[in-house]
Amino acid sequence: MKKINILKHLHTVNKHRFYVFIYCVKAGIPFRGLVHDLSKYSPEEFISSCKYFSGKLSPIVMEKKDIGYSKAWLHHKGRNKHHWEYWYDEFAPEKSPIIPYKYAVEMVCDGLAASKVYNGKNWNKDLQLKYWLKTKPSRKINLKIEQFLEEVFTLCANDGIYKTLQRKKLKKLYDKHVNIAENNTEV
Ligand SMILES: [Zn+2]
Repeated sequence: MKKINILKHLHTVNKHRFYVFIYCVKAGIPFRGLVHDLSKYSPEEFISSCKYFSGKLSPIVMEKKDIGYSKAWLHHKGRNKHHWEYWYDEFAPEKSPIIPYKYAVEMVCDGLAASKVYNGKNWNKDLQLKYWLKTKPSRKINLKIEQFLEEVFTLCANDGIYKTLQRKKLKKLYDKHVNIAENNTEV
């Protein structure tokens, strides 16, 4: 394993966590921003991500190409509730349960931060919505959460990230898609 890859991977993780933290503070969930993706520093994730660091594709993709699956990803998704894969269970009566508010908002911040870092100079505010729409068919997220995420990303594309990531606004949107919708079906 090259020493330079250790530094480069560390830099990627820190940079991503920095943007997630800024967005989480804006969104009113600072603690989630602070602890976001901490499992990436665990040996199970850190060592394999350094080994498969390429600078272009994510180490997870590289590990999957090499051995057919990614140990780092399996470790990560099993511990991080901001990933829909954490919640998904093919054999449960409720395959994709509703993701609680703080993790759903952390998911928003994660997506926006990844888009920002990944696209670098070419970044603009509607890229996350485009990426979301393109990858939506392959995700197995609870429909209400999916609608919440889509409306938030659409607002980000129209009004910008900082106007959208406001605690009251996000809470209202979540209630509209999840809580209020939930109550209506009970009546
Ligand atoms: Zn994560």
